Amino acid sequence: MPELPEVEVTARALARRFDGQRVTAVRIYNRQLRWRISESLAHCLTGERIEHISRRGKYLLWYLRSGVLISHLGMSGSWRVHEARCAPARERHDHVEVECNGAIARLNDPRRFGALLWHAHSCGDVLRHPLLAHLGMEPFDPRFDGDWLFAATRGRRSSIKQVLLAGKTVVGVGNIYATESLFAARIHPQTRAGRITRRRYVRLAAAIRAVLAQAIDLGGSTLRDFRGADGVNGRYTDFAQAYGRQGRACVRCGTPIRRLVLGQRATYFCPRCQRP
Ligand SMILES: [Zn+2]
Repeated sequence: MPELPEVEVTARALARRFDGQRVTAVRIYNRQLRWRISESLAHCLTGERIEHISRRGKYLLWYLRSGVLISHLGMSGSWRVHEARCAPARERHDHVEVECNGAIARLNDPRRFGALLWHAHSCGDVLRHPLLAHLGMEPFDPRFDGDWLFAATRGRRSSIKQVLLAGKTVVGVGNIYATESLFAARIHPQTRAGRITRRRYVRLAAAIRAVLAQAIDLGGSTLRDFRGADGVNGRYTDFAQAYGRQGRACVRCGTPIRRLVLGQRATYFCPRCQRP
C-alpha cells in the first residue's frame, strides 16, 4: 500500500513536470474507483492551468485555478509520468490520463480503491474537505516536535504504536515507519502514549522525521520504483533496523529482536534497549 513517502515522491515528480502547465486533455477509461469519477471531471480540468501539486497526508492535491483535484492511491494506485511523444501503450489498469503540453500523467490502480475527486474553490477551503479535515499533524510541519507530541498525547491510554498508526495525532507513520521510529527512540511499542515523558517525545519526533526522510530519499528517482504494492517499502526494508528482523541481533546491543502483534499489525522491537 502506498504510504506517505511514496505519495510525497509522487507529488514531487508530478510537480516537477506539471506545475505551471495547462491541461490540454483528460481521458478517463474507467470511472469505477472507490467512488465513481464524476462525469464532469474532464470538463473541470481541461484548459485550466495547474498552479501546483502537493500532498496532505496520503492525498495528492492538484491545485488548479478554479478548484483542486484530490487523488488518493488507495491500496495499489500509482501515477506515472510519460512524455507524450514516446509514451508506452496504455496498460490494463491505466484508468485516467491527464495531458499537459507534451506530458502525460497516467493513473494505474489494479484494485481500484483509489479516489479521484474534484473540489471547486467555490465549495470552500479544500483542507476542510471531509476527507482532509480530521487528518493529524504533518510530520514535516514546523509545529511538529517533541513538545507538541507530548501535549497531544496527555491522557492517552492506548499504546504509542497504535496512536502513531491511527494517523489522528500525526499522519503518515505507517507500520514500518512506526516500528523503526520507536526503535530509534528506544521506546517500547506497547508503552502507553500518555505516560511517555517530554524528553522521550523529543527523541521520537526527531526519529519519525529522520525515518520518513530516509524513506522519501530511497523512493526518490522515478515513479516506476514504487508502482507495486510494496515498492519503496521493499527498498526501505533493506535499511530497516527492527522491522522484519525477529531473531536477529539488535544493531545497538546484540539482543535478539522480538516480534509481537499489536492491533493486528506485526511489530518488532528490542526487548533490552526499548523501554516502557
Ligand atoms: Zn537493543
